[in-house]
Amino acid sequence: MLDKEKIKKDLEKEKSDLLGQLKEIGRYNSDTGEWEAFPEEQDSPESDSNAMADRFEDFESRSSTVNVLTERLQEVEKALKGIKKESFGKCSVCGKEIEIERLRANPAAETCKKHLNKT
Ligand SMILES: [Zn+2]
Repeated sequence: MLDKEKIKKDLEKEKSDLLGQLKEIGRYNSDTGEWEAFPEEQDSPESDSNAMADRFEDFESRSSTVNVLTERLQEVEKALKGIKKESFGKCSVCGKEIEIERLRANPAAETCKKHLNKT
């Protein structure tokens, strides 16, 4: 039997960790419902082009981190919603319990490893 209570606690902890990380590098845009990386800081006008390029790269890497974190957050939220259902953690193809390692890697997984590509 899958320990749903434990999984739920782990997911809730992961969710708050993810939100904590997102808050450090981005902000929630309530208009679009999406997280976005902080925009460039407009500081000293005398900054040379190297510094500008550095900041641009920094923004790019923050943006991609935000994307990775929000994708994971969506999976975690989806799993938290689905966990109450009887079907949670069961393969939608064969009906067997999904391997716990697979659920850890992808908490919103709907199939076991064997039926990974069968949906
Ligand atoms: Zn299966």
